[in-house]
Amino acid sequence: MNDILPDQAQWWERFEDTVRDWLHAYGYRNIRMPVLERTDLFVRSIGEVTDIVEKEMYTFVDQMNGESLTLRPEGTASCVRAAIEHNLLYPGPQRLCYSGPMFRHERPQKGRYRQFHQVGVEALGYGGPDIDAEHIVMCARLWRALGIGDVALELNTLGDSESRGRFRERLVKYFEQHAAVLDADSQRRLQTNPLRILDSKNPQMQELIAAAPRMLDDIDDASRLHFEGVQNLLQAAQVPFTINTRLVRGLDYYNRTVFEWVTASLGAQGTVCAGGRYDGLIEQIGGKAAPACGFAMGVERLLELMQHAQQTAARVTDVYLVHQGSAAAQYAFAVAEALRDSGCSVVLDCGGTSFKSQMKKADGSGARFAVIIGDDEAAAQQLTVKPLRGNGEQTRCVIAHAADLIRGK
Ligand code: ATP
Ligand code: MG
Repeated sequence: MNDILPDQAQWWERFEDTVRDWLHAYGYRNIRMPVLERTDLFVRSIGEVTDIVEKEMYTFVDQMNGESLTLRPEGTASCVRAAIEHNLLYPGPQRLCYSGPMFRHERPQKGRYRQFHQVGVEALGYGGPDIDAEHIVMCARLWRALGIGDVALELNTLGDSESRGRFRERLVKYFEQHAAVLDADSQRRLQTNPLRILDSKNPQMQELIAAAPRMLDDIDDASRLHFEGVQNLLQAAQVPFTINTRLVRGLDYYNRTVFEWVTASLGAQGTVCAGGRYDGLIEQIGGKAAPACGFAMGVERLLELMQHAQQTAARVTDVYLVHQGSAAAQYAFAVAEALRDSGCSVVLDCGGTSFKSQMKKADGSGARFAVIIGDDEAAAQQLTVKPLRGNGEQTRCVIAHAADLIRGK
């Protein structure tokens, strides 16, 4: 669980401002749920045989009344519980959003924390593929607003419960044939929740998982049509995607569309946002049956991407100009102007310190090149260009050539 110090909090505030405007642009309204719920809510909705419920929940007994409580590991179950409790769905469907801390007892590592933050979006009471597509398209818009480029969309469909039943049987048969390769978790899950084996992170099982039967082959017609509807809307909106038939998500309440946004820039913790349809959950938690769809994004992981993108996009100076001697100083002044005429950005050293200390300033400036002028260079009307990044050679040349070199021509 992290402290977020002021230097870091600035980024959080910038992120939150962007997210608020973005949610407003799609008409999602804010809802704020407590961080604690009865344990039973999460067990029933997320599923008894899932990583979250089996090993990641912070669960404790309330000393005052013996009730089992859990710090929320995700927001969907609480949001649906609140919508039912306050009859929010009575007047009609609702577009809702929330943000805040979630808690999972995982092994802490980069991008994986025990208290982390999510922004979540839930569309309750909507059954059509248009809302699934809206969620995905709105994610794409947020990545653009945050300046994040390197995230890709993976999409799959889990069908209805009957088609999942058929798939489950095929899957059990397949894994039984390879029982020797299954790790302990998967052997146990083979009987209780075989779909979960597909999202195992164990590297030793990946080959087996890659060759497993595909859900898409068992899918019912209505779900297939729904899935095509989602894909058509995404194509029309020019949001590229790949279909990943292994994508099952780590929570049991999903059916039909599931999706994840993944990046290669964050190492092992590459999923920054995930969601899908959960048409059975509202009824399961005690509400009147209504379809729904939603997603949640991991704020810490997105901030990492956002910072990285914005730092690399920050404009860097091309040249730090170092000079030594009075003839050189005068020539350097003219060279700086000439380089700027050719489109280079130039910081001219001012103040006449030693060569060594000027080179230090050049190194610390973040500029791509040092241009060095001594009396020798001044007499020959030349300059020395020294790359400050990588291991390029330094060259001595005339101004026009130097400008080409610096601008990469
Ligand atoms: P993962 O496969 O990385 O464990 P998950 O499938 O358990 O993710 P979800 O329940 O789908 O995650 O949560 C949505 C998003 O929340 C994830 O895509 C991720 O960005 C973020 N997230 C989940 N768990 C953590 C965590 N422990 N620390 C930081 N971010 C997290
Ligand atoms: Mg997880």
